[in-house]
Order: sequence, then structure tokens, then C-alpha cells
Amino acid sequence: MKAFEATQLYFDRAAARLELSDNMRKLLLTPKREVQVQIPVEMDDGRLETFIGYRVQHDDSRGPMKGGLRYHHDVDLDEVRALAALMTWKTAVVDLPYGGAKGGIAIDPRKLSLKELERITRKFIDQIHDVIGPDTDIPAPDMGTGSREMAWMRNQWEKYHGFNPAVFTGKPVELYGAEGREEATGRGVGILAYKLLGHLGRKPQNTKVALQGFGNVGSHAAKFLYESEYKVVAVSDHTAAYYNPDGIDISKLLKFTLSNKGLLAGFNEAERISGDELLELPVDLLIPAALGGVITAKNATRIKAPLIIEAANAPVDPEADQILHERGVTLLPDILANAGGVTVSYFEWVQNRQFYKWGLNRVRQELDRVLSQAFESVWHEAKIQECSLRTAAYIIAIRRVQTATLLSGHG
Ligand code: GLU
Repeated sequence: MKAFEATQLYFDRAAARLELSDNMRKLLLTPKREVQVQIPVEMDDGRLETFIGYRVQHDDSRGPMKGGLRYHHDVDLDEVRALAALMTWKTAVVDLPYGGAKGGIAIDPRKLSLKELERITRKFIDQIHDVIGPDTDIPAPDMGTGSREMAWMRNQWEKYHGFNPAVFTGKPVELYGAEGREEATGRGVGILAYKLLGHLGRKPQNTKVALQGFGNVGSHAAKFLYESEYKVVAVSDHTAAYYNPDGIDISKLLKFTLSNKGLLAGFNEAERISGDELLELPVDLLIPAALGGVITAKNATRIKAPLIIEAANAPVDPEADQILHERGVTLLPDILANAGGVTVSYFEWVQNRQFYKWGLNRVRQELDRVLSQAFESVWHEAKIQECSLRTAAYIIAIRRVQTATLLSGHG
């Protein structure tokens, strides 16, 4: 199933309970604007290469649009469109004053030199600088991008529009970035895991966790969970997967990855397993924190974890979601589970606009407050509606976007 079709299905499950009119359904599903650009770049060896970049702006009824820029060879218009819609529902479910957008370039950053990457990034901003801005659409890091790319992007954007750090979030802390932004998505996953377990009467010490993905989200989630005394028994990235039923020493693993370009392969203090095996381990909590579409109808029946937290965007497709729901698996959906990142992006934007810098403790406290509140409202909605946490999160999000749309007179 195509990615946008999948988000549409999740939307429809919630919309059916809200009795949305056909016109409102169409309005909320149709992206406001889709931009596709050509990025011609001279490579280090003198060749001319042409890449394709995207920015999809899905909805702005609740505020400026917000969402990351992804560098990955799978990036295409359908995926970006789906991820842009997810951002609209994500910012709405945690009640940030934003709409949703997403973008990216179809490249494999690992195969490019630093200089090539910088040239591509700057050329991309040359092509889209007019459609983004601190009051309209504020990009941020996503898979394959980080604070380094945000610094280049901001520098390039300011060549056209002048000084304004609030145009991008996820910047280096030395260049108007927020303390705690880098850890925010992973930390948020940890905060929400703690809330979910608490509501189910489970203790971290008795919870075995398998974590797929050890990039920005996975590694920070692992750190937070380990420090909160969860038993992280399995981790993986695209280079290797490891399992130790007694728990992996995450502080040792983090030290190892620091001297191993951030990669897991070569760690020898746990049993090596395959990436597919990791998803099917007998654990209490499974956290997919890598790519989308990893749990499908093909492997959903073999998943043994009774709890899943979607740290990645769209890791479970709608068919698998249905199978897991029928099997009684409790799933915390992406639009809530990984909202910690965009929440601290919001704090960064607020600080940039006020020229006032918060300390790390304030960022962490506010993150905890925003996510806890969102969790409580989703949990409560699921009880009232007798539905999954995903449908409850969508109901809250759609209701908020619909209300904003109607109040501004577009309905
Ligand atoms: N790319 C992240 C996400 O998918 C963060 C977006 C942001 O900070 O604007 O939520």
C-alpha cells in the first residue's frame, strides 16, 4: 500500500466516528501546496547530477506549517505527502500552534562528500526559499539530516531574506538552536513509554524492550529507557542487530558507537541476530524507531510484544494495525509517540522569536508537561470512544483542525 493511502485510511477510521462531511474530509485530506524542484549540482569529480527535492505543505489552519526535511534514497512525492499529513495530525494532537509540512531530497547522503552535501542543500534552499519562512513553513531535521544541514539551510535562506533564525529549527545550539532539541524525540518516546506503562500497571524494571533503529531517535530513546531502568534486550541499525535476554549495557554500547561512526556493527557483548528476528522477539515492548512500513500483514501475526510504541513515522501499515488490534496489542501511534521532536522545535522557535534562551531543565520540564497532557487526552478519548489509541489520537487531531478551519471561515 502506498504511504499516503495508509495515512488516509487511519484518517478515515477516525473521521467515521466524527461524522465529517464529504467536503470537510476532502478539504482536510488535500495538501494545500506541493512543490517539486530540480536540483542540478556539480559533483566533486566535475560531473553534473540532477536531484529531485520536495516540500509538501499539507495544512495551515492551526498555524505556520512545520515538519522535517528528509535525505533518503526512498524519498518520493507520495511519501512526503503522507509524512506532511502526519505532521498536521501530530502538531494538532500535542496542541502546538502549527500546521503540517514535510520535504526532502531523493539522495543517499552516505554516498556523498561533505562538500557535495552542502552544495545540494544550498541549491535546494535556492529553489524553495520563497515558500518557507518563520511565519509560513518552518523546516527541521528528519532522517538523514541534522543540525549541520539546518545551519547551511538557514545561512542560505538568510541570503535572500535577511537575519531570522526562526525559519528553521533543530539548528546547532551555538547558532540559535535549543538545548535538548537533539535528544527530544528519543526522550519523548521514553516519557510516553513511562506514561503508558504506568497506566497499564507495569514497572520499567519488569519490562523487556526491543528497539529497532539506533539513529537520533533510537539512540536517545535507548539511553533514556536504560537510565529509567527498563531492560533493553535488543537493538539494531542498518549494520547489525543484537540481543541479550538479560539486558544490554546501553552506556557501554553508546560508548562503543561513539568510536564507531555511530554504528552498531562490531559490538561483541550481545548475540548477533537478524533485523527481522528483532521484531519478533518475546519482549514486553517493541519500539520501531527506524523506517516506515516495517510491520505489515506479512509479519504482524508473528509479533510477540503486547505493547508497541511507534517512534518512527508510519512503521506499522493499516493492515498490520488491524491484525495487531484484533490480537489485543496496545499501540501508541507515531503522531503522539514521536511528537517530542516537533514539541522542542516549537520551544526553539519561541526562543528565537523572543531572543531569550531557555536552560535544558526548562526544556525538559515543558516537554514532559506537553507530552503528558497529550497522552492523558488520548488515553481518555480512547476510553470514551472504546477505540484504539491511534484512532483516539486522530479523533482529537482532526477535531482540532476542523474547528480551526471552521472558525476561520473556510468551512
Ligand atoms: N522530523 C521530525 C518529525 O517527524 C521533527 C519535525 C520538526 O521538528 O518540525 O516529527
